[in-house]
Amino acid sequence: MTNRIKLLPDHVANQIAAGEVIQRPASVVKELLENAVDASADTIQLIIKDAGKTLVQVIDNGIGMNSTDIRLAFERHATSKINIAEDLFALKTKGFRGEALASIAAIAHVETHTRVENEEVSHCLKIEGGKVIEQTLSTQPKGTSIAAKSLFYNIPARRNFLKSDGVEFRHVIDEFHRVALAHPEIKFLFFNNGTELFDLPEANFRKRIVGIFGNKLDAFLVPVEETTSLATLKGFVLKPTHAKKTRGQQFFFVNNRFIRSPFLHHAVNAAFEGLLRPGYNPGYFLSLNLDPKTIDINIHPTKTEVKFEDEQSLYAILRSAIKHSLGIFQVMPTLDFEQNQTMDVPYAFKNKVPATPPIEVDSSFNPFKDASAKRKPTTDQWEGLYSGIQATTPADSIPSSSLVELPQSTRVFQLFSKYIVCPLKTSMLLIDQSRAHQRILYERFLSAITTKKGMSQQLLFPISIQLNPQQEEQYKSSEDILDAIGFEIKLNNKTLEVLGSPEHCPPGKIESVIETLLSESDQDSDGEHFSYADQVAKTMSKSLAIHSGESLELEEQQRLLDDFFGCKETTVSPFNKQIFITLEKGEIEQKLS
Ligand code: ADP
Ligand code: MG
Repeated sequence: MTNRIKLLPDHVANQIAAGEVIQRPASVVKELLENAVDASADTIQLIIKDAGKTLVQVIDNGIGMNSTDIRLAFERHATSKINIAEDLFALKTKGFRGEALASIAAIAHVETHTRVENEEVSHCLKIEGGKVIEQTLSTQPKGTSIAAKSLFYNIPARRNFLKSDGVEFRHVIDEFHRVALAHPEIKFLFFNNGTELFDLPEANFRKRIVGIFGNKLDAFLVPVEETTSLATLKGFVLKPTHAKKTRGQQFFFVNNRFIRSPFLHHAVNAAFEGLLRPGYNPGYFLSLNLDPKTIDINIHPTKTEVKFEDEQSLYAILRSAIKHSLGIFQVMPTLDFEQNQTMDVPYAFKNKVPATPPIEVDSSFNPFKDASAKRKPTTDQWEGLYSGIQATTPADSIPSSSLVELPQSTRVFQLFSKYIVCPLKTSMLLIDQSRAHQRILYERFLSAITTKKGMSQQLLFPISIQLNPQQEEQYKSSEDILDAIGFEIKLNNKTLEVLGSPEHCPPGKIESVIETLLSESDQDSDGEHFSYADQVAKTMSKSLAIHSGESLELEEQQRLLDDFFGCKETTVSPFNKQIFITLEKGEIEQKLS
């Protein structure tokens, strides 16, 4: 009897393995570009023909390879990037599997030229279908050029599986964008069928984004920045007004590597909650840096998925930093940065003159369906209030970083158990604690109602409330809203059984809140409310907000401010009362002169 089990010939095994790493021309582009980055190049050229099917070539001016390295580079599991298994956990480079070049060489004609800095000759190696055809010497500039031609020439099934040139080209562009965005410090050139497509000079992140996506995008970029012991976050989100129906401009980089993370994506969405019309996606370019030991990038052959040790904290950091940035734009709508270059402006705003008010309100967007029937508050009144505050709001009225991170004692204190005082560089903010808290709660409840995603907490002891017929009627018509906001209620024969209550609603307040809600009718036509949803959110915020006269722990003061500056509107309370005033250094000096 003959043996049935045989070892696959090397070239077949290589072809199979290659399929994992190299799925399409764009995979070759990605691997060759990343190798060039790892080789410390400061200029990288990408040249493709026919969407990469005929040719993908990457030329770099990096460290190059000597005669031994060039041969080893194409062996499977040959890598200069890890020595021992532990290195995997401290990885700073793109590569580590040592599979890319072997895989590319298994399915293409590959021609490599490379020279290390202090050698006079360069080495040239030709490989076809994994077999070395020729190794010669030549005189090339320092660095490496690798050209992969006739992709999948020896695997027709794979070649036929490729999509149209248009589709494959799109994939190539995507990979190019990702690497070029992750490395603005490197100059990139990109030629397609002999035509220059991109010439991206060495730049900072912002300029690189604009270099790729066009100058028009600049006005829509909102800087995001946060440093914590766990991670540093830098980058930009696109203003809510620039949200798209497609998911085009969404980029996460972790330790300068593009990654996909549904989890972090969700955090960004959470920060934009309530700011986007349904069906629209936020745009973002965010770069996280954290200790490589706390992440695992080794879980996917093409290395674009990452596992984080502390996902929950990253989620919170991302969400609050973005909210904070979006909030800042709200607080200082028409600041002219050129007028005063010395002021204490957060982040990289200094050189930027917003052409339009940074947050534009989409007046056609109305989350409350029944609002059109009601009288809206007169806008001139509203705007008047708003502009009055702007005029007295100095540029530095914005805390320069997430407040929780600051040494608390020097940043804020409570005055008369009524105000939070926040000293800034050339002024002082005096914030009405109760109104600020109303604003925070109002926005949260409103968003819970509109998104129907109110968080509910189960009560240890359900609460029963007897209803009169009128209240019962009222309950029936507002059941949906109460449910959306996070109440879990059953109606049993004129008695409400409250089993769960919204976040921020302590059990002791449930009864009075519900009674107030049910005594107000949605037929109220005094014109004070946009809608019944608005009315409910207002009532809840008023009933549950911190009162004047309540003394707060430092931590509570900090949290209040932090939440407050994450609000979409910060000038007036839900009841149109001014929330804070500023005292300018100049004013104080004048009084004391
Ligand atoms: P990995 O990047 O995972 O190490 P690759 O197969 O992509 O595996 O590359 C194998 C090795 O070849 C690399 O570790 C590196 O030493 C060398 N190499 C590849 N490309 C270049 C380049 N452009 N310049 C210098 N060395 C390179
Ligand atoms: Mg590599």
